[in-house]
This record gives sequence, C-alpha cells and structure tokens, in this order.
Amino acid sequence: MDAAILIVEDEEKLSRFIELELVHEGYRTDKAFDGREGLTKALEGDYDLILLDIMLPGLNGLEVLRRLQKEKSTPVILLTARDAVMDKVAGLDAGAVDYITKPFAIEELLARIRVALKLHPMMRDDSNNNTGDKNKEGILTWGSLVMDIPAHTVHYAGHEITLTNREFMMLRTLLENVDIVLSRDTLLEKVCGYEYMGETNMIDVYIRYLRSKIDDVFSVKMIQTVRGVGYVIKSYGS
Ligand code: CA
Repeated sequence: MDAAILIVEDEEKLSRFIELELVHEGYRTDKAFDGREGLTKALEGDYDLILLDIMLPGLNGLEVLRRLQKEKSTPVILLTARDAVMDKVAGLDAGAVDYITKPFAIEELLARIRVALKLHPMMRDDSNNNTGDKNKEGILTWGSLVMDIPAHTVHYAGHEITLTNREFMMLRTLLENVDIVLSRDTLLEKVCGYEYMGETNMIDVYIRYLRSKIDDVFSVKMIQTVRGVGYVIKSYGS
C-alpha cells in the first residue's frame, strides 16, 4: 500500500514541488496551506506521515504538532527555517520524529521520509481496544515503565531502553493487551506479519531479548510465560 503524506506548507511553490516529487516516488499526497487547515486534515485524515512547516499562518507548526499529538500518533517531520535551533528542540520535545532544515535537497527529504515511515508505521487496525494502563493517547505504562508510541521510546524509571522495531512492537502488543494471554501465533502475526507464519520460535527469541533489556536489568518480572499458551503482561502489582 502506498503511504499517504500530508504536506502542510504555506509556500505554494515549495509545497507543489514537494508534492510532485512525492507523487513521482509513488506516495499519495494531500496539501494544506495554513496551520488550521493542516490540523483539521491531520486529525480527520488517515495519513502515514505529515510534513509540517513551522512558520505557518493561522496556527504555527509547533501548535499544530502539540494539538495533533494529543489525538493521534501520526509521525511528523518538521520543516524548519535555517538556524531555528529552538524550533527544532521544541519540535522534537513536542513529539516530531525528525526535522529538516530549509533549504533542503529533495533527496535528503525523501530519505528522511523513508526512515520515518519505516520506524513509525501507523497502526491502521485500531479494532483491538483491550488497553491496559493506557492513561494518555499513545502512552502505555506498567509500573515505572513508560512506552511513548508517538515518540517511539521506552523508559524505565527515566532510563531509556533501546528496542528494535520488532521488540518495540512486541512490547506494545503485550502492553495493549494487559492481563490477556497472547499466543505465539497472535504475537507473530502482530510483530512479524503473515509471511513468517509458523515460525513461532521467533517470538521466543524476541521475548528473550525483551527480558534481557527490561526484566533482567531492572529486576522485574514483566513478561510472564504461560506454558503451552503464550505470553502475558499482567496488571502492574497484581
Ligand atoms: Ca512557512
């Protein structure tokens, strides 16, 4: 499926140029020319990625980003003016996955888009709402562990835990289904996709990696094995 990208940029020539390049690369595109239109489209549309200019009329890009982040986890790449260091810091703090400084080479933008789409795939299947300790959109917690899905980070008591994409997906799936035992097949489908059907031992390998990065380091028993069935994360303290 081709990724859909929303371009929020008030400079029409630049916006048009980016759009042509993205279409040429096979992406589907949509455009907004001010902050309010951008926010509305971002909230209502189903985009895989948003390119968001910071200096926008109506509502500036950082404000658009902050409001969007409260509702959705769509990855955002900020388009910033040269030397606007504060904007970059504020933008990353507000949850942007990357930024690119104008003027930029289109190849660099395309490369960053590819990376962002790979690292932050939008979960289009939201039918599973067995959310455990979900206290804020995109944030999952278990005791001192905080998983920030939009930012793609995991912290334990403030310490960052570096996970690969599959480890991240595995932990996310378990945390979204607290107290529900997930079979290896279910986890495999969620984490690796259909093409790995049958190779359930991959799941045991990822569970081992996760335990070595979390359970072993922080002396907790987060991921539990249910013999003959699969794995579960139980409600914290239960
Ligand atoms: Ca602008």
